[in-house]
Amino acid sequence: MNTMTCKKEDTTHCFVFEGKMALPNQYFVGRLGSKFIIALRDRKKVMGLKCPKCEKTFVPPREYCHICQTKIDENWVELGSEGEVVNYTIVRYPGRHLPKKVPYILGQIKLEGADTPLTHIVEGVDFKDVHVGMRVKAVFAEKTTHTLLDLDHFEPA
Ligand SMILES: [Zn+2]
Repeated sequence: MNTMTCKKEDTTHCFVFEGKMALPNQYFVGRLGSKFIIALRDRKKVMGLKCPKCEKTFVPPREYCHICQTKIDENWVELGSEGEVVNYTIVRYPGRHLPKKVPYILGQIKLEGADTPLTHIVEGVDFKDVHVGMRVKAVFAEKTTHTLLDLDHFEPA
């Protein structure tokens, strides 16, 4: 018998207790993340970081180019507010950490000037009509939450 096995229904030698915890927490979004959110909040601009060596532009921002490992944290570029849906899903299962009530479309949007997609909510289109290649534009929130949701969603362009 494997002594490391601990089945929930067998409480002879050990048992598993299932519980729930709610812990207050804080998350520092970082120097780059802060600059990214502040540009969304104050200027309604989506910023990316461009690698000068391989010329790839990343969004959300990252400190190092993930292709050639060059440090790119100071090479900010402004991206277009329009782009193309390169992938999507319909979120149907509710969760208290989700940004909105289900169902909704979660898309990966490749903005003009970016080489990586930004994952975000897509609204203003029926689930049956959303498709890869669809042109969308950013809609910015009127009230800030100091999060990625300062870009509220994307909608058909
Ligand atoms: Zn690079």
